[in-house]
Parts: sequence; structure tokens; C-alpha cells
Amino acid sequence: MTLVDDLVAECRVAGVELCTGVETEQESGLVIRATGGIPDRPTWAVSGVHDVVDVLDGSADPRGEVLVVDGTGFHEATSVAELLAERGCAVEVVAAAMVVGQDLGLTLHRPMFRRRAAALGIRCTPDTVVLAATRTSAGRVAVTLLHHPTGREHTREVDAVVVATPPRPRVGPNRIGDALAPRRVGAAIADAERLVAEIDTSAVGAPGNSTPVGLDGR
Ligand SMILES: Cc1cc2nc3c(=O)[nH]c(=O)nc-3n(C[C@H](O)[C@H](O)[C@H](O)COP(=O)(O)OP(=O)(O)OC[C@H]3O[C@@H](n4cnc5c(N)ncnc54)[C@H](O)[C@@H]3O)c2cc1C
Repeated sequence: MTLVDDLVAECRVAGVELCTGVETEQESGLVIRATGGIPDRPTWAVSGVHDVVDVLDGSADPRGEVLVVDGTGFHEATSVAELLAERGCAVEVVAAAMVVGQDLGLTLHRPMFRRRAAALGIRCTPDTVVLAATRTSAGRVAVTLLHHPTGREHTREVDAVVVATPPRPRVGPNRIGDALAPRRVGAAIADAERLVAEIDTSAVGAPGNSTPVGLDGR
């Protein structure tokens, strides 16, 4: 059972009405915005540079040689890299950190990713940042990369670039989860629990944005 299945099952037991596929702009009553973060497109992005979420929801479908930029160190870049490699793309992951997926669990997720990445032929290039990208006349993307320990720059041409960067929060009252401050699933659930406790105890209208944000909430 996935985490989402588990949460849906809990909601059903509690008698919560669940409506999916619905855009809401409702402003009356108490509205809690758990609408997630906004993908943050890097300043160097040109056409052919996609956010990881666009690839996962199918709105972008990169093919051929794909450069994945690991800007979070977590599952975002590594999971999309595996997905694209399984679809037949030639994938390279670059990270500014000393290792791709530096925040993956050291004794479980990272070694497992490295094993699967090796089997899929995914190239991992740490210590590397993207400086710029341009669209070539052949419709490819030329990416200028900096190997920051040495200061060496080189340009790499690919068919597409996929970036995994931390999203931006949204604006407005009563936000929880990534809409308040992009972090991780546990933090979104903890935000919701704190907000509900606040509503229960205060039994007044709308609570403020007092949810504490910090490393303990990641
Ligand atoms: C590729 C990837 C892998 C990740 N892996 C992990 C991981 O392994 N572990 C971990 O802890 N975290 C992981 N994260 C981070 C985690 O997914 C988020 O922190 C978490 O999902 C935030 O939950 P949320 O409920 O705030 O927002 P979301 O999960 O983003 O949910 C927001 C929902 O609101 C909906 N919505 C938006 N606007 C409206 C509207 N106007 N009306 C109605 N609905 C709307 C959206 O469609 C979406 O379903 C990952 C993130 C990504 C992108």
C-alpha cells in the first residue's frame, strides 16, 4: 500500500468526502490550501528545458539524450532519470553536490539507485553546475557546464534537459505542505495535523500561517 492509498483509506474511514479532478476557487467557509508548490524554472531555462513534474505528469515527453539536473539531492532527479532511461533515453544526471542523490538514504536508497542506474546506463556527474543553456539551430539544447572544483567549463549538447529544483511556495492564507514551504511528505502531514489541532482548540475562523518551518519538519 502506498502512502496515498493509506491516507485515502483513513479519510474514507473518517467519512471525508473526496472530490478529485476538480479545480476549486471557493473562498467561503474555511478553505485550507494544500495545493503544492510552484515549479521554479531556472533563469537559464530555454525551450527544451522541462521541470521534473512536467515529465512525471506526462505534459513533457523528452526523448533521445537527456540531461537531468539534480538540484535537490533527493528522489526527484534520480526517479525521473530512471523513468527516462527505462523509456530508452540516454540519461546523464549532473549535481552541484559531491554525489548525485546526496540526500538519499545512505544505507538503502542511494546504493539501490546506484545499482539500478548502473544497470540502466545512467551517467552520474557530480560537482557540476549549469551556467547557461541555448537552443541550437538543430533544435537541441547546448548546455554550458562548470566543474566547480576546477573551474573548468565545457558545453554539452542534448535533446532535452530536465530540472529537479525546489519549488516555490504559493501565496495566500491557510496554506499547508509545499504550498506553505516546499519540503517533504512528512512535513505536509505534520502541517495538516498542527492546523487541525489549532482549529480544534481555537474553534475560531481562519488560523494564521503560524506553522513552524525547519529541519525537523523535512
Ligand atoms: C519527483 C518527486 C519525488 C519526491 N519524492 C519524495 C519522497 O520520496 N519523499 C518525500 O517525503 N517527499 C518527496 N517529494 C516531495 C513531496 O512530494 C512533497 O513535499 C509533498 O507531495 C507535498 O505535499 P502537498 O500535499 O503539500 O502537495 P502536493 O503533493 O503537490 O499536492 C497538491 C495537490 O493539489 C492539487 N491542486 C493544485 N491546485 C489546485 C486547485 N486550484 N484546486 C484543486 N486542487 C489543486 C494538485 O493537483 C495536487 O494534487 C517528491 C517530490 C517530487 C516532485
